Amino acid sequence: MKIEKIALEKIKKRKKQNQEIASANLQKALEDEIFKNLYYEKKSLIIEVAKCEADNLPSNRYKLNDLEHKLLDRLEQLGLPKDGLEIKYFCQKCKDTGYVNGKICSCLKREISKTLFEKSGLKKKLHCFDDSNFEIFDNSELMKKTYQKMEKWCDEFETSYLKNIGLFGGAGSGKTFLMECIADKLIKKGKYVYFTTAFKMILNLLEYHTTFDNTKNELLQQYLDCDVLIIDDMGTEPIYNNVNENYLYLIFNQRIMENKPIIYNTNFTLDEFYERYGERIFSRLINKRNSKVFNFLNSDLRIKNNI
Ligand SMILES: [Zn+2]
Repeated sequence: MKIEKIALEKIKKRKKQNQEIASANLQKALEDEIFKNLYYEKKSLIIEVAKCEADNLPSNRYKLNDLEHKLLDRLEQLGLPKDGLEIKYFCQKCKDTGYVNGKICSCLKREISKTLFEKSGLKKKLHCFDDSNFEIFDNSELMKKTYQKMEKWCDEFETSYLKNIGLFGGAGSGKTFLMECIADKLIKKGKYVYFTTAFKMILNLLEYHTTFDNTKNELLQQYLDCDVLIIDDMGTEPIYNNVNENYLYLIFNQRIMENKPIIYNTNFTLDEFYERYGERIFSRLINKRNSKVFNFLNSDLRIKNNI
């Protein structure tokens, strides 16, 4: 997948830079005669010790440790950091390879999220739960509860029955703000989040529909691959025949089959949403089994459970 490759390249680049720092430190230290002698003495001793230990003979390991200390001391005397020869991995878990036991590491997931977020065209800095200010809402207590519920959900969404979350309400009622907090929290947890607008999504799906080469799959794949799909402003997207209903249904249905959450918001009422998207999509997104709808009705915020 293209996104994974881009993210992996970033991790590799980071690793290479750190390797180069360690190697530059070594080159600098080797200009010093004392360090150089100790360094090569240690190198040949390592082999000697290894041979002895392999043959179960007494070895000079204590001398090796002694040399190691002298080397580090010399490094310090030369004004270089004591750990200057070690490669400083950004991620200790995978040593900046992006994978642990063949599984994708959380650092690569985070990098993928970042890459995706950059590609989503939204602003860099997201709002987060810590800076949410409920005082600006008339119904601040209820708003606070909604935020707390959603923050908790972020911690347990993988095991939660709740997979589809809809935020309904007028403009300026805090829906997008809340979605950003959710995205921010999940990205920080290393989750693979895709934050998009319904508008951008439909343009991608139209391109998918009208492209006939192999690159087209990536256009659809990003909506299926991510751990959590977040869609801003449903209902503002243009309508194209044979595109909106078919592909949105395909994506929603596939994600629901795989138990992967969808969070969306809309200015529509429930009735308008039903009218716009029809029975098939409505019943996938809004049902008793795995869905929740929060109604942000301007100053009158009401929470409806499992409608
Ligand atoms: Zn890692």
